[in-house]
Amino acid sequence: MRGEALKIIDLARSEGRDFLFEHEAKALCSLYGLPVTNFFVAKTKEEAVAVAKKYGYPIVLKIVSPQILHKSDAGGVIIDIKDDNGVREGFDRILKNVKAKVPNAEITGILVQEMAPKSTEIIIGSTKDPTFGPTIMFGLGGIFVEILKDVSFRIAPITRTDAEELIKEIKSYKILEGARGMPKADQETIIDILLKTSKMLMECPEIKELDMNPVLVYEKGAKIVDARIILE
Ligand code: ADP
Ligand code: MG
Repeated sequence: MRGEALKIIDLARSEGRDFLFEHEAKALCSLYGLPVTNFFVAKTKEEAVAVAKKYGYPIVLKIVSPQILHKSDAGGVIIDIKDDNGVREGFDRILKNVKAKVPNAEITGILVQEMAPKSTEIIIGSTKDPTFGPTIMFGLGGIFVEILKDVSFRIAPITRTDAEELIKEIKSYKILEGARGMPKADQETIIDILLKTSKMLMECPEIKELDMNPVLVYEKGAKIVDARIILE
């Protein structure tokens, strides 16, 4: 795993990047068994259509550019694309949006991926503490993290008990239990993701920051739809 992980990290560095593209971050996560979406970087419109057909609709398109870290800020994300023509239009629209918002952006390609059904959104992140090393952060997506700052933290590596506590400690925990008409979230899967994330962080000290935002959690299973990794 470590060898494969280093290949991904070294490639980014050889291109002068201090961050992994989403598809690279997802490839790294999947080495550790994390449940990421499928993905393919298309270089042409017809290639994107062929992959979309293979994955099955609906699909999502996203910009891949070394100058763009926050894709939706650059108009670089289109979700819920339902057919071949939607892919062609979406492909052009993303390039047009990005050109307007980030004129100097080099285009590496357009990322095609499955569209994960709507559900409860969680965020799992990591930053490095100067003394204790990698931390793990857990919270619910959207307003819960952005406005209420309702998150929990541990120093990695974490145990199963730590993972359970990370989940139960947040004030909005009841949402995961199915409060207010929300679907009940698969907490076993969240624990599994937290433990695998901890393993990845310990084995890859090159990861300075990790942001899996959002992760969609279902009654059974979960899907990581965006992953960002900043390198040391
Ligand atoms: P950003 O770089 O702006 O964070 P994201 O990849 O997180 O871009 O995409 C923006 C939003 O689009 C996400 O917060 C999520 O709501 C939605 N989204 C992105 N990818 C998917 C996907 N594969 N399935 C479902 N929704 C998605
Ligand atoms: Mg995101």
